[in-house]
Order: sequence, then structure tokens, then C-alpha cells
Amino acid sequence: MVTTLKKIRLRVIIIATLIYILALFVLIISLNQNILRTDIKRVLNTSENVEDFILKHPTAILPDNYKLLSATDKNDETKKIADGALYAETVTEKSVQITIPRYEEGKLKGYLQIVENRTSSLFESFAVFIFGLLFYFAAAFLLITRLYHNRKFIQETVSKIRSIERSPLTQSYLISQEDDKITIALNHLGESIQRQAESHTEKKENLYEFIEFFEFPIFVYNGRGKISKTNAAFKNDFADTTNLDIFSPYADFLSMLVDKMLQPDIQEKIYYFERISAYYHVRVLPLQELDNRFLVSMMDVTRYQRTLEAHKAFIADVSHEFKTPLASIKGFAEILENGKTSSKEARQFAAIINKESQRLTALVHDTLLLTKQNNRIERKKVNLLSVIQEIVKKAAPQISEKNLFMKTELSNVIQKTNQQMVYSIFENLVENAIKYTPQNGKIFVSLHSNGKKVIFTVSDNGVGLTEVQKARIFERFYRADESRSSVSGTGLGLSIVEKNVQELKGTIDVESVFGEGSTFTVTF
Ligand code: ADP
Repeated sequence: MVTTLKKIRLRVIIIATLIYILALFVLIISLNQNILRTDIKRVLNTSENVEDFILKHPTAILPDNYKLLSATDKNDETKKIADGALYAETVTEKSVQITIPRYEEGKLKGYLQIVENRTSSLFESFAVFIFGLLFYFAAAFLLITRLYHNRKFIQETVSKIRSIERSPLTQSYLISQEDDKITIALNHLGESIQRQAESHTEKKENLYEFIEFFEFPIFVYNGRGKISKTNAAFKNDFADTTNLDIFSPYADFLSMLVDKMLQPDIQEKIYYFERISAYYHVRVLPLQELDNRFLVSMMDVTRYQRTLEAHKAFIADVSHEFKTPLASIKGFAEILENGKTSSKEARQFAAIINKESQRLTALVHDTLLLTKQNNRIERKKVNLLSVIQEIVKKAAPQISEKNLFMKTELSNVIQKTNQQMVYSIFENLVENAIKYTPQNGKIFVSLHSNGKKVIFTVSDNGVGLTEVQKARIFERFYRADESRSSVSGTGLGLSIVEKNVQELKGTIDVESVFGEGSTFTVTF
């Protein structure tokens, strides 16, 4: 860079010098030409006086440098005049010789030839040359001193800037004379940079402290591929890193960060972070005042997202489950409408329609129970023994119909709880034990309290569950294949039980052996 600059400067000097020499040369030539013109003019003026003198004194002898030639004289000069020139001239370095025609009554009479010494141009040329040279050196001297001063000025300014660089930001940088405007300006500049830097640092520190207050992950992105700062929640959910690479599996998330840099309006979106199985509501906020960094906040919305998905799935399940009995009712009603059925068939179809309507009613009832939002669970003292006794009494016809042996071991437990929910839990479990235990089977119901918690158990030696079935029985509308055909039900009973147990902050446990029986234990 420096050598290039030097080369350029040398080239400029050479070109400028050549132009200057050329100008000087042209000046000297034009000066010489001017002198020559003046010399010729002077000789021509003299010729008029000599002509006058000859006319007045025709016999007078002229000095050596004046010559009269006859009209018949032929030489190069007279030839030029004969060719039409007004006069002929022969110029040497030292003299100028002019040959002028002389006429008398319009007829060529002869020629007057005058030789005169030339004004010496050497001195003038030399003077111009010397003056030019002096001018050149003076200009060069001025230029060099100016350059030297400029260089010194630049060096001084650079060293002042360097000293600002080295100074601690908390003190005034340069001590100088008062009239040193550059130093004063640099001091001002330095102070202003210091103020800006301080305010910048302060803002940054404030922001960095501020993000720690939030319980959701936040990070500050520097816009150039690095994370400048993360809060504790971020470190907890992701990693203690400054490397944006942790997001490399999430191309769409990274592309949003890039988009953000191009179009700085606030952008927000929900992203699924597969590695940690979580949904985050991501919001990117440009921080123009902080070197165009970006504040990226990440709110964990996994629960909300899952609830949303569960709602969607629930609606889909409910619609699907409702379709089957509805289709059946519609189909048999159409057959009956045609009137081509025997009265026996008609009775059979009407019975099916009735059964499917009951199933639909049960579905509606259970769906409503399942979706019921218990914002405030009312609790009062409930005699759990009498609740169970009432349920068992209600179930007596089914028990005797299947000739089941039911044993109970019930303590007199009074607990502060929600009567309806407890009733629903007990009833569903007892009903299931009756439904899924074949003829002559055994059912055992027990109720105890350990002082703090209530333990309710229903055991049966019924059909039991395989491991796969056991894992799924709390799913909505799930019915183990065997039970679907023979036993009525909606597949919602245990979902309702689980929901109620959760709302009462209790637990439910299932033990079952396929073909041998099941035990459901509720603690609350
Ligand atoms: P439903 O009884 O209406 O079918 P539930 O949600 O109450 O629906 O039960 C879901 C499934 O769990 C039942 O269909 C049945 O296959 C199984 N199940 C529930 N209780 C028992 C039990 N005591 N013994 C064996 N299987 C049971």
C-alpha cells in the first residue's frame, strides 16, 4: 500500500516535471519568435527611411550593410519576390537580411538589400530558463515543505489518536496547548465515545441482569452467529453455551433468526424442539441500540400445545364414537320406514334402535362427565361407608343375576371430599368388576383409612387384562377387545375415574393377570 503510494507520487512528480519543461520550452520558442518578428519589423521600418534617403540623394554612397541590386539581378531572394512575396528574408543567428523590391511609376527598378544585426535572444532565453528553473525549485521547495508539514501533522494526529486508544476511558486523554484545535476536538470525540461506550455498557449490563428475572429461556444473539448471553432458564433447558450450533437441528428456527435480521419487525412463532420434546413460543426482538443484537425469548408452551392437541383428538374420538350408534339407528329406522318388515323383525329392529339410543345416551352422559370443568371442587364431610353400601345395593340385581359372590371389608370412614366424584369413582370400579367377571365369580371390595389417606380396593377373579390392555385402559373410548362384543360400555368409565382421582389429588393403581382377575386400588 505504502509502496504503491510512493510509486504514484514519483510518477506524478515525473509527469509534472515533464509538463513543466515542455511549457518552458514552448515559452522560450515563442519568445524567440517574437524577437525575430520584432527584428524583421525593425529592418522593414528602416528600409522606408533608406528608400526616402536614396530618393533625396541618388548619388550618395550607402553604408556596407545597405546594398542596391539592379532589376536584372537574379538570386534566391529576388526569385521569391518575383514569385509574389512582398519581401524576402534570410535570417541567421546573428543577423537578418531583408531584400525589398523598389518601384518607380509602377515598374520594378531594382532591390534594396539591408543586413542588420539581430537582437540577441540568448540572454532572454537564458533569463527565462533561469527564471523558470528558479520557479520550479521554489515551487518544489514549497511543495516539499508543505508535504513535510502535512506528514508531520498526520503523524502527530495519528500519535494523538493512538494515545486516546491507550488512555483509560475514565480520564481526559490529552494535555495540550489551548489553541491546538485538533487535540481539543479529539478530546471531545474521545469523551463522547467514552460516554457512548459507558451508556452502551450500562444498557447491556442492565439487559443482562434483566433477563435473569425471567423463568423462561432467553438469549441475546449478536446477529453474527454467536450467542452473547443466556439466562439461567436457558442454561437449564438447553445448554450453557455461546454457540448457536445447539440449534443446528432446527433449521426453521435458525432461518427465522436470519429473516429477523433482514426484516426487523417483531416476529413470533411456535417451534417444536424435538430433542427435548418441547414446544416453545419464540419471540425475536431487535435491539437496535445494542449493536443490532437480538433478544430471543422462548416460552415453554408444551402443556398448552398438548392440551390443544388433546382437545382436537378428543373431538375427533367423540365424533367417531358417536357415528357408530347413529349409523345403526339411521339404518334400522330406514328399514322400518319402508314397512316391508315382518312384525317380529320390526320388534327386533326397534330393540336395536333402543339399545343404540341407550348407548348414545350413555356416551353423551360420559362425555359430559369427562369434559366437565371442575373449577372449584366443593369438599365436605362424606360418609364413604354409606356411599359404598348404596352402590352395592344398587348393583344387587346384576350381582345376583350373575350369581357373583361379593365380599366386603369396609371401615367406617368419614372424609372431607367431593361426594359426587367419589361416588363416580367407586361406582365405575364396582360396575366394571361386575361386568368383567363371569358367572359365579368373586368380587372383593374394601375401604380403609390410615388416618390421612383413604384406601379403596376392588378385586375380582374375572377376565383380567394383558400387559398391553392394562397400559391402555385409561385411554378414552378404549375397550379391551373381548369386552366390546359381550359387555355394554362406552370405554369412558376409567377415563372419568382417572380424571376424578387426579382432581382429588389421589392415585389409582391396577394389578391384573389375564384370565385370573384384576385389582383396582384408589388412594386419596
Ligand atoms: P367400559 O367399561 O365402558 O368399556 P371403561 O373405561 O370402564 O369402559 O373400561 C375400559 C376397558 O377396561 C373395558 O372395556 C375393559 O376391557 C377393561 N376393564 C375395565 N375394568 C376391568 C376389570 N375389572 N376387569 C377386566 N377388564 C376391565
